[in-house]
Amino acid sequence: MVIIKKSEQLMLMQKAGRITAEALLVARENVRVGISTKELDTKIRRFIEKCGATPSFLGYNGFPGSACISLNNQVIHGIPSDKVIIKDGDIVKVDVGARYRGYNGDSARTFAVGKVSDEALRLISVTEQSFYEAMKVAKAGNRVGDIGYAIESFVISNGFSVVREYVGHGVGADLHEDPSVPNYGTQGRGPRLYSGMTLAIEPMVNAGFANVKVLKDGWTVVTADGKLSAHYENSIAITDGDPILLTDAEN
Ligand code: MG
Ligand code: MG
Repeated sequence: MVIIKKSEQLMLMQKAGRITAEALLVARENVRVGISTKELDTKIRRFIEKCGATPSFLGYNGFPGSACISLNNQVIHGIPSDKVIIKDGDIVKVDVGARYRGYNGDSARTFAVGKVSDEALRLISVTEQSFYEAMKVAKAGNRVGDIGYAIESFVISNGFSVVREYVGHGVGADLHEDPSVPNYGTQGRGPRLYSGMTLAIEPMVNAGFANVKVLKDGWTVVTADGKLSAHYENSIAITDGDPILLTDAEN
């Protein structure tokens, strides 16, 4: 069931979104050669708690971290670990949620650490840009398929592929609400977008083939061909005009 938010709920989502966005700024400040992904996770958790919020991911379906931290060929759902030390040349995906007064923000970024390849930088940039292609069509009256089409056509025209097994989603009182928002689709198809819908749009883009698999830890999703993957996510609110960026550190 798609839940349309009223203005009071949207204000709380904006607050949750801002804390989420600021937690990613904490991640950006601290992601460096030599830090473990567990240390990074702890800094993120402390920041969220200091804001009077709780990490949405901690304990979600049993997830042991406050953030998902995924390196290089890992796509999403990497488990923070004191054994995983960030190295020069890594690309690091940090996916964070903060729950504030009953509402969730959900956002992800990919950070380049030290000297990374030109292809990795282009992958990160195309992934971010594909989100903004989706923003152009994320308005009331359009459909979920318009969002997926905008993302996938942009990604493919740049020679990369989108992950199909994992998708964006509604976000609100639950971290994952209806509708599903795939990073592929057909223009004019899928659920209609209404003003007051809140969505997490999150392109996951692979440098090689789209196929992914899950590691034995039951969480970490990796590319099947071992090539790089990037992730970019924001929570947004649909309006009759331009969408509102909820996971914005500026608002
Ligand atoms: Mg996320
Ligand atoms: Mg999400």
